[in-house]
Amino acid sequence: PLVLGIETSCDETGVGIVRGRTLLANAVASSMDEHARFGGVIPEVAARAHVEAIAPTIERAVADAGVTLTDLDAIAVTSGPGLAGALMVGVAAAKALALSLDVPLYAVNHLVGHVGADVLQGNGLRETHGTVGKLELPTVALLVSGGHTSLLLVRDLVSDVEMLGETIDDAAGEAFDKVARLLGLPYPGGPHIDRVAAAGDPQAIRFPRGLTRPKDLERHRYDFSFSGLKTSVARWVEQREAAGEKIPVADVAASFREAVADVLTAKALAACRDLDVPRLLLGGGVAANARVRALAAERADAAGVELRVPPLALCTDNGAMIASLGAQLVSAGAAPSTLAFGADSTLPVTTIRA
Ligand code: ATP
Ligand code: MG
Ligand code: FE
Repeated sequence: PLVLGIETSCDETGVGIVRGRTLLANAVASSMDEHARFGGVIPEVAARAHVEAIAPTIERAVADAGVTLTDLDAIAVTSGPGLAGALMVGVAAAKALALSLDVPLYAVNHLVGHVGADVLQGNGLRETHGTVGKLELPTVALLVSGGHTSLLLVRDLVSDVEMLGETIDDAAGEAFDKVARLLGLPYPGGPHIDRVAAAGDPQAIRFPRGLTRPKDLERHRYDFSFSGLKTSVARWVEQREAAGEKIPVADVAASFREAVADVLTAKALAACRDLDVPRLLLGGGVAANARVRALAAERADAAGVELRVPPLALCTDNGAMIASLGAQLVSAGAAPSTLAFGADSTLPVTTIRA
């Protein structure tokens, strides 16, 4: 089926078009620059930017794909989780399209969409930057971005997704952004920490690994916590500054990045081992992190686990992943959503299609 997917859960206005598993277009407009001076995404600013970007981004995707709107078999849209005002823009646009074209509409879960990105092929994307071949199930999926840090068990993409654990405070990407700010690096901080950390010693400072003590593991085996780490980095830097010492920025960045990569990959691979699942899928903007990727590859290799990382353009928020999940719902014969659905900022991952 030819499906157009719309994603507006955070700061990316994403419109993707797929034909089955083949990616035809992936148009993305981001309001990231507008949030830079605040050091984080401002919901109202993001929602207004979506209003401005949605129509041109749909037009761009349709042109890139070389199709016409009347060719479409279905529309898919992120209905949650995410920022309520931002989600509403995509939901309204998707309803308008589906109604006017008289095609079925699928309201889907953003997190499950990230997993759906993995099965896409074509446009040279997968061939050059991503893992190849069919996604076998079940798989464990580690989704890490500025808004979420979740560990999922995916048994069936259209019918059976379970939340194993998630962050109990900050998302991993949020921690990257906050620590970058602390070190005087620009927003969004993830790529800058990555760059600076390359010249640092990851063992220079032993920052805490959240929720990894035996007592924590009893209740929070697959959960994450990054606010203690962020505070620990802040305290370390403040103490040196108060003493008039120069901050070894590269060492702090490398040690912080190591702490995040260590805990993310350790818990993800623990899940693979505990549940006897020989596959791990990475997604979200933090999957771009060089150390997260390297440590995941190293540990997956040692554990005999297949590591899958979609091309980066499909890891960060985009409409193609939503279109992909929509296409799979169509192919599986899933019933479309009724127009009664709205934006649901806390949509649970077990609700794949609202
Ligand atoms: P959502 O949480 O809804 O998916 P988002 O906009 O936060 O929304 P993404 O666009 O997927 O999600 O990811 C952005 C986040 O990824 C930012 O926090 C950014 O700092 C982080 N990031 C990007 N590149 C890297 C990197 N190389 N290392 C670490 N973090 C990175
Ligand atoms: Mg983003
Ligand atoms: Fe996301």
